[in-house]
Amino acid sequence: MHMQKIIVANWKMVVKKEQLVSLVEVVGQADKTNLEVALCPSFVHLTEVASLINNKNIGLGAQNCFWVEHGAYTGEVSAWDLKDEGCQYVLVGHSERRKYFSESDEIINKKLLAVLEVGLTPILCVGETKEEKDAGHTLERVREQLQKDLVNVILKDSRIIIAYEPVWAIGTGDFCKPNDAEEVQSMIKEEFTKITGVAEVAVLYGGSVDDKNVAEFLKQNSIDGVLVGGASTKVEVLGKLLANSI
Ligand code: PEP
Repeated sequence: MHMQKIIVANWKMVVKKEQLVSLVEVVGQADKTNLEVALCPSFVHLTEVASLINNKNIGLGAQNCFWVEHGAYTGEVSAWDLKDEGCQYVLVGHSERRKYFSESDEIINKKLLAVLEVGLTPILCVGETKEEKDAGHTLERVREQLQKDLVNVILKDSRIIIAYEPVWAIGTGDFCKPNDAEEVQSMIKEEFTKITGVAEVAVLYGGSVDDKNVAEFLKQNSIDGVLVGGASTKVEVLGKLLANSI
């Protein structure tokens, strides 16, 4: 169990330029003594957020990256450039990338390896769909994603964060019961150790986390933090969520 709980805000394509100042302000004002907080704005807002979070004990993450360092790849952003922009984290394999951009586990693995090579921390998202859950295949599906997404991972000074995000819980208000998430997350920890040989990994829960349910999630043994979408895009809710996380 990690001492500092990790709170990652995924602002998707939702947060607008004019919201950045007030959102960063509320995170800056929050008591973060026992929290590791990271904000993941869209690519075009990274530079501004990097300057807004300066000296505020807030981390910066990107929502995606490409796996090649440099070259003729129109529209892509490399993990190397994200590092230069001040990022410490990159979300990899978010279910919206898997679904809308057909990202396979093979692609996700390449991205994850690139992020590690650059020295940033990948936040690898895994999780089952509603159909897989209803068929009783949750553990099997998540295990399979981990096995494919973590191929050839060698961790020395770097770390990986895993986010368990049941697809059916993302943006629906239908969050996973903390007890059920706990079961999947403890399997993730075991499987991660089997695959990488590394004993410790931080595993976050994501999927309709808000200011009201966050404390219950953070109480669970195998939940080291949360990945928050919708609730992290509203100043008041984000402020309350952080206050309820300590
Ligand atoms: C997410 O996008 O990773 C997420 C968990 O979204 P939400 O909190 O809105 O369900």
